[in-house]
Amino acid sequence: MSHWKKKAEVAIIGGGIMGVSTAYHLAKRGLSDVVILEKDLLAQASTGLSVGGIRQQFSHPANIRLSQESVKVFERFQEEFGVDIRFCQVGYLFLAEKQGTWIEFLANVETQRSLGVPVETLSPQEISRRWPYLNVSDVKGGTFGPRDGYADPYQAAMGYANSARRLGVRIEEKTKVIGIKLKSGRVQGIETSNGPIFSPVVVNAAGPWAGEVAKMAGLDLPVTPYRRQVFMTKPFAAIPKPVPMVIDQDMTFYFRGEDPGVLMGMSDPNEPSSFNLNIDRNFMEKVIEAAVHRAPVLGKAEILKGWAGLYEVTPDDNPIIGEVQELKGFFCAVGFSGHGFQQGPAVGLLLSQLILDDRTEFDIMPFAHDRFGKKGQEGERRVV
Ligand SMILES: Cc1cc2nc3c(=O)[nH]c(=O)nc-3n(C[C@H](O)[C@H](O)[C@H](O)COP(=O)(O)OP(=O)(O)OC[C@H]3O[C@@H](n4cnc5c(N)ncnc54)[C@H](O)[C@@H]3O)c2cc1C
Repeated sequence: MSHWKKKAEVAIIGGGIMGVSTAYHLAKRGLSDVVILEKDLLAQASTGLSVGGIRQQFSHPANIRLSQESVKVFERFQEEFGVDIRFCQVGYLFLAEKQGTWIEFLANVETQRSLGVPVETLSPQEISRRWPYLNVSDVKGGTFGPRDGYADPYQAAMGYANSARRLGVRIEEKTKVIGIKLKSGRVQGIETSNGPIFSPVVVNAAGPWAGEVAKMAGLDLPVTPYRRQVFMTKPFAAIPKPVPMVIDQDMTFYFRGEDPGVLMGMSDPNEPSSFNLNIDRNFMEKVIEAAVHRAPVLGKAEILKGWAGLYEVTPDDNPIIGEVQELKGFFCAVGFSGHGFQQGPAVGLLLSQLILDDRTEFDIMPFAHDRFGKKGQEGERRVV
């Protein structure tokens, strides 16, 4: 460990999209004495296991703003980072089955349009005309965001990591943070499996492990891991391209193209929180059932493989971003509740602004860590 440096201006715990984006933005502003500590390898946890969806169709205005900022970056990613993240802007088609969901969608669309998001509202007949393979018999309506889509989350994270490295950021893989040093209500640094690092600023970007990391600092952060399973079919050409990301909000089922097959997943509302990453064949059957219901032609597809990753969920499905008031120098970018990949570009930028300027270019108060239990706090309703 001859290269081990015991000091840094900023120590970032976690080498997923949040950690690498934050490091990149700090270094781009000239603060390059930054170290990322990653217990495993970069972008192998939630980021690498996610399905890469990128949308502006959120219910909460603050999430829409984060996504608008991020989409701009994804659209010019190759120019800035020299990496092709295969951003396929095939659109997101949200479907509502229940009348209440449809009414909520219409209210969301008003918010989205007021912020300049391009989004269409579609009748079942129009949906059927445009995507004839969808069963709309029980659908009340849908919303379609043509600039939404998906990209390769691993490549995006590596784009940030490599650019951050070029700007001087140190990345320590296979290095686990095991303690956080505190003194008089301030962080002083961290203890790792490879030795200590003294740092006046520590960033918790530990994804599903964010709650455990916060505990090392004596804090209780409401971020809970939940397994999410994804299944991919063998090559399947029976659905005409481009296939949008189709999200059935009431079934919490989704599918999209993943050349040459189709990728699909669903949430299980009955599954308790855990770090379990196994695939459950019984649940796979339920996902296939949902798929065949929504797109009957998928009955002819065969499953090639499946995998599971962890969502990092907060009680209101909104993230926690910013400095923890009672612990100076301890910043969080955690709890993205299933939509963190796409918010990574904006969150890294905002967190770098908070660390360097003590303010951000737009309001992130809805994401303050002390909001829970307070009145009038709206969470995110478009979660899958
Ligand atoms: C199946 C699935 C599908 C998803 N689909 C989407 C989607 O379509 N769109 C979208 O935007 N988001 C999606 N998400 C959510 C998204 O993946 C996450 O919100 C996002 O990747 C969070 O990034 P992160 O950097 O915070 O966490 P992570 O990528 O999990 O990174 C955290 C890192 O911290 C490291 N770490 C933890 N503890 C320590 C420690 N003590 N010491 C050192 N290192 C530590 C971990 O090893 C990990 O690499 C999906 C997630 C899953 C599981």
